[in-house]
Amino acid sequence: MPTIAIENFAVCTGCEVSVLDMGETLLKLLPQLDFVHCQVLMDRKWFGQKGEKERLEVASADVGIITGGIRTEEDRHIAQELRKNVKTLITLGACAVHGGIPALANLSTRDQIMNTVYNTPTTEKGVMPGKDIPPLTDRVYAVDEVVKVDMQIPGCPPSPEVIANALTHLLQGKPWSLPERSVCDDCPTKREKKAQVNLKRPLQNPDRDYTKPLSEMRCFNEQGILCNGPATKTGCGGEDKVPRCIKANMPCRGCFGPIRAGAKPMVDMMGALSSIGLDPKLIEDRMAHFNRYIGAHNNLRPLPKR
Ligand code: SF4
Ligand code: SF4
Ligand code: SF4
Repeated sequence: MPTIAIENFAVCTGCEVSVLDMGETLLKLLPQLDFVHCQVLMDRKWFGQKGEKERLEVASADVGIITGGIRTEEDRHIAQELRKNVKTLITLGACAVHGGIPALANLSTRDQIMNTVYNTPTTEKGVMPGKDIPPLTDRVYAVDEVVKVDMQIPGCPPSPEVIANALTHLLQGKPWSLPERSVCDDCPTKREKKAQVNLKRPLQNPDRDYTKPLSEMRCFNEQGILCNGPATKTGCGGEDKVPRCIKANMPCRGCFGPIRAGAKPMVDMMGALSSIGLDPKLIEDRMAHFNRYIGAHNNLRPLPKR
């Protein structure tokens, strides 16, 4: 029976909850899998159950799964150890694949972050911890910047259906990957290639008749509601393909990351918006907005002093 070890680094733990959220699929998979380390499922500690071990011990398994980007030297060490201890290494979720939301921290230097947290003028001066905790890395890294990764499952969080599909392929020895298409390619909304109005405030409700199907609703961007679909990889919709957020009446925020390796979503989005007559300069904080989930891989750097 294949063994699985899941490690989580800079995360909100939503990805682990998505693994549990597979529900009945997880129950069907469990007899075929043996979890040897997973913080939300079992109590296995790095330094022994009673803290009796002097050195941190990373589990060995057939499959290793990492959620979260690399933010501390301890994360880096565990990623390197896990890589040595497993045959297949999977990154799960936007944080592990592209840095995710925690990599927005890459807009600041490590010193700026520490000063902001411990020396905010409006709070009492804190003591900056200097020992007994793992030091921060200079920036947040995606896991594949540090170790070789065999399979990447993006999303914030990835849907339980996508996780189940990828794991089932792996168990059956079949290759699994997501298509190099955009969210727009699977979006059923109506497009006329021209915006009705310029960009509106974020999170305004779209103009939609809920008695009619999505195919009767005009594209979010054409309604002036910013949607990152044109520059985002598709696949979140699972079997029926309709992108998850669009189905839930929300524009795409870009959590599946770039359509292909090396793509630059900010440049692609500026082009897509301009091509339908929208002014992308109206978007505040464009750098962070278009790189919201992909701040590793040097996509985000500290901003110059104003
Ligand atoms: S990818 Fe999203 S859900 Fe998963 S750990 Fe990161 S922030 Fe949480
Ligand atoms: S921009 Fe958004 S709403 Fe418009 S087609 Fe693409 S995914 Fe759909
Ligand atoms: S629609 Fe966009 S933001 Fe929503 S789940 Fe899919 S890729 Fe992520």
